Amino acid sequence: MTPILSNNYYVNFKEDAYTKLNKYISDYKPSTIFILVDENTGNDCLPLLLEQIETEQTIEIIEIESGEENKNLDTCSGVWNALTELGADRKSLLLNLGGGVITDLGGFVASTYKRGISFINIPTTLLSMVDASVGGKTGVDLGVLKNQIGLFSDPEMVIIDSHYLETVSKRELRSGLAEIIKYGITYDAKIWDEINNFQDLSIPNLSSLIHRSIEIKNEVVTQDPKEAGIRKVLNFGHTLGHAIESYFLESEDKENLTHGEAIAIGMITESYISEILLGFPSEGLKNIKKSIINIFGKVLIESSDYEAIIELLIHDKKNVAGQVNFVLLTNFENYKLDCKVEKSLIIEALNYYNS
Ligand code: NAD
Repeated sequence: MTPILSNNYYVNFKEDAYTKLNKYISDYKPSTIFILVDENTGNDCLPLLLEQIETEQTIEIIEIESGEENKNLDTCSGVWNALTELGADRKSLLLNLGGGVITDLGGFVASTYKRGISFINIPTTLLSMVDASVGGKTGVDLGVLKNQIGLFSDPEMVIIDSHYLETVSKRELRSGLAEIIKYGITYDAKIWDEINNFQDLSIPNLSSLIHRSIEIKNEVVTQDPKEAGIRKVLNFGHTLGHAIESYFLESEDKENLTHGEAIAIGMITESYISEILLGFPSEGLKNIKKSIINIFGKVLIESSDYEAIIELLIHDKKNVAGQVNFVLLTNFENYKLDCKVEKSLIIEALNYYNS
C-alpha cells in the first residue's frame, strides 16, 4: 500500500513500514529505544513488533495501565520518571504501541521530555489507525476535561499494520468503523457505498478502507492544521454524539457507549437536522438510518434523557462563545460548517432516531 505523506512524515503500511522503521533506526542511531505499551498491547501486539525490529540497540519496555481514566498527568509523570531512571537522553526514541490513549499520551510525553525526543506511533485499534494517526494532536485529559492539556507535535513516522487488529474486540472494531462511515458520508461516497455492501468486519475487508480513511483525514488536517475551517468537517456526528457519549458515561443506570456507538447516533440525528435545515435528500437520510442501525443496533434514549443531553451539548468545550455549532450536510460529500440549530429541532432529531 502506498505510503501517505503527512506534514513532514510518512504513514507507512504493513511490511514496508517495518523496513522503513529499521532504516530509520539504523540512520538515526537512537541511544535507546523505548516502547510504550499498556497491559493489552504489551501482551497482544508487542511480540509482533519485537519480531520486526532489527537492531543491536537496547530496547526498554514501559507499561502503563490501559483506559481513558489513565490518560492523565499522573501517568505521564510515571513515564517521565521511568525514562529518567532508564537513562533516556535526547537521542532516545519512543515507539508508542497502542490505541489512541497510548499514541496521544506517548506523543505528549515524548514531545515534552527534555524538550522533545523523537517518537513513532504504531496505532493498534481501528479508531486510532483511522482517526488518531495523523493531525499531530497529542495530549492528556485533566480530570473530566478531555484532551485539555497537550500540544501539536508530529511523529517521525506512523506504522499501520492491520495484523494488530486481530486481537481487537468486534465492539471496538465497530467503534472505529463509525469514523470510517463519517468519512464516507461527508467526504467520499465510495466509502459509504462500500460500507453499505459490507459483509462483515473482517480485516481484509477493512484494509483498503483504513488506507483511504487516513488519506482523507490527512487531506483535511494538512489543509487546516489548527481547526480554523475545513477540519471542522471531522466533527460531523460528534456534536450530538459527544453529548450522548458523556450522558451515558455519567448516568449510573445506563451502560456506557463506545465512542463509535455514540457517534453513530450523532450521525443519524445530525443527518435528520440536515434534511430539515439544508434539504439533505430524504432517501439518503433513510439509508443512513437503516445502515447505521444495522451495524450498531438501536440504543434506547428516553425522552426523559433529552434535557440532560442538551445541557451537555451546550457546555461542550468545542463551543465558541456559548454557541453550539453543527456540521450539517446539503448532500453526501457536501457540508456546511458552523450551523446553528434550535433546541426544538434537536429534540425532533432524537425523536426521529427513536422512531
Ligand atoms: P484505547 O487506546 O483506550 O484502546 C481501547 C482498548 O483496546 C484499550 O483497553 C487497549 O488496551 C486495547 N487495545 C488496543 N490495541 C489493542 C489490540 N491490538 N488488541 C487488543 N486490545 C487492544 O482507545 P482508542 O479507541 O484506540 O482511542 C481513544 C483515544 O484516542 C481517546 O483518548 C481519544 O481522545 C484519542 N483520539 C485521538 C485523536 C487524535 O487526533 N490524536 C483522534 C481520535 C481519538
